[in-house]
Amino acid sequence: MIESKAYGEVLQIRMSRYPDFPPAMWVCAYLVDGLLMDSGPAYTAQELTDFLKDRGVKTVVNTHYHEDHISANKFLQDAYGVEIFAHPLAIDKIKRPASLYPYQEEVWGYPIPSLVKPIGDFVETGKYRFEVIPTPGHDLDHICLFERSQGWLFTGDLYVTTRPMASRPMFDMPQILEDLKKVRALNPRIIFPAPAHVVTEPAEKLDKAIDYLEKVDIRVAELHSRGMDTEQIRQEIFGAESIIAEMTQQQFSSLNIVKSFLKKYEQ
Ligand SMILES: [Zn+2]
Repeated sequence: MIESKAYGEVLQIRMSRYPDFPPAMWVCAYLVDGLLMDSGPAYTAQELTDFLKDRGVKTVVNTHYHEDHISANKFLQDAYGVEIFAHPLAIDKIKRPASLYPYQEEVWGYPIPSLVKPIGDFVETGKYRFEVIPTPGHDLDHICLFERSQGWLFTGDLYVTTRPMASRPMFDMPQILEDLKKVRALNPRIIFPAPAHVVTEPAEKLDKAIDYLEKVDIRVAELHSRGMDTEQIRQEIFGAESIIAEMTQQQFSSLNIVKSFLKKYEQ
């Protein structure tokens, strides 16, 4: 299932396995001036490829190696001969068969391995120049792309909401906080996230997300200094774990947020 919407010259392409999936199970790619940001999940790979016919796609950038961002790579290479770039740390992971949890298989499906090239410091299209902004908190290979003259910031999975309530075990929350501050300092005019709707008031939303995570960080430190264990801290800050934790085999949980902020106190 694919929906598209134009934001000026940037075309948002929202993808989901089924039309009635909740918003969290949709993911966006963006097309501008022949450059496609991310290629979506496996279940929509053929549909995306058909959708892009005659739309002039020449280059693809994967913001990171996760299965909901890379899975039409091989289809697009075979159909249109596109060049695909990603962070050097993503190359090997995209080249090998993925291992997925059951929820990932259910929602996104398995990507076909593909060969992508290491990205440099920027990507140029006919009209625009996109700076590569390393943002390693979500995963070590995660990047954002910034087009300075237009104020366009493509954030992959860095920005989801102003109040993140769950994270995966590999997320480095203190680093995500630094990444959000780094992109805030760019003063983007508009944000194009993969897992959320387009953000037309980026300063306000990024400030809120940064403030929220700083407060969580401080609260975790306070409760830790009082001798509370990880589970007690989670309960105190977030209350009961949401159903999402159970549905994702504890891959998306508030406990993971607490664990990540607590890492700095480990010996
Ligand atoms: Zn991701």
